[in-house]
Amino acid sequence: AKKWILAHQFDGVPKDSDLELVEEELPELQDGQILLEAEALSVDPYMRAFASRSLKEGECMMGTQVGKVVESKDPQYPVGTTIVANVGWRTHAILRADQERQGVGGMPTVMPATPAPGLPVSVNLGVLGMPGATAYFGLLELCQPKAGEVVVVSAAAGAVGSLVGQIAKIKGCTVIGYAGTDEKCKWIKEELGFDHAINYKTRDVAESLKEAAPNGVDCYFDNVGGDFLRAVMQQMNKYGRIALCGSISEYNDSIDSPRSGVPTFPMIPNELRMEGFLVSRWLSRWPEAFKEMATWIKEGKLKYRETTTKGFENMREAFYGMLRGDNTGKAVVNV
Ligand code: NDP
Repeated sequence: AKKWILAHQFDGVPKDSDLELVEEELPELQDGQILLEAEALSVDPYMRAFASRSLKEGECMMGTQVGKVVESKDPQYPVGTTIVANVGWRTHAILRADQERQGVGGMPTVMPATPAPGLPVSVNLGVLGMPGATAYFGLLELCQPKAGEVVVVSAAAGAVGSLVGQIAKIKGCTVIGYAGTDEKCKWIKEELGFDHAINYKTRDVAESLKEAAPNGVDCYFDNVGGDFLRAVMQQMNKYGRIALCGSISEYNDSIDSPRSGVPTFPMIPNELRMEGFLVSRWLSRWPEAFKEMATWIKEGKLKYRETTTKGFENMREAFYGMLRGDNTGKAVVNV
């Protein structure tokens, strides 16, 4: 078996020497345990944000995978069962499916895979997994977009953002997405149906937003934080809603000196609501989201894309690439 360990705590932009691939000898299976073999693994921004806060050097890198039970001493999980498991960056893991251990952000160790005939199992890590639930509940519960309103989303061509924009379109909103390349902008506008797609690397956010939303913004789904959030806040309409989903522009900053210093002033005259969330808040309702999104996919209303890296040994590169913006849609690694 192989696993990736956090060899050195991240400091700034992650370096190759921070993560190391090592072999591991697995013990005999005990009663009640299963042996899981990874098929697809997820690389997510939270790993940059949380690894150094929750792992010691030498510990296995955190993460979720979808895999198959290849040996079982738990009758509830016979050989061949596909599950989603929070067991870190490992090719093989021995675990008890009923164990109560909670992963980052209160995620259970084992979750059932969502049956999705005709779709690859990796959708359990993307559109019908944690990022899908994030887009669905973050937007619908916290932003509560109404038809005709203007919704802005950042990291709009990523796993979460690309779904947020499409769900907002399904709800009848005008959608403005910001992404980091012209190709990504083309995809979200031409294929996903966003009304405006703006490359934040070549356009000023404040200025381009005034053009795209001359009457202001009602909902902002924030994946980026920092200066981006500051710029959008200035253009929120009365009673606007901001869902604080992520702050990827700040994850490489030192824990002690985050760059933000979000101005609270525009919140008062405009009576804005701004709320941070962890998607685990709605864990018991995730199946509801996956059911509706699977229907939208079938009806052609919701599209998803995966940027796939082949090979467990390329996990680090896939992860660093995602942080740099190499991915369109969900970044996954197929073993
Ligand atoms: P993405 O698939 O969106 O991948 C990350 C993307 O972020 C990159 O592709 C890149 O695209 C963009 N990016 C990187 N650096 C910057 C920067 N400095 N400024 C602006 N954009 C940047 O990842 P996810 O969809 O998985 O996650 C999106 C956000 O949602 C993250 O902040 C994540 O932490 C958060 N999240 C929060 C959850 C919660 O429970 N609150 C759950 C899941 C995700 P580009 O080319 O456009 O720059």
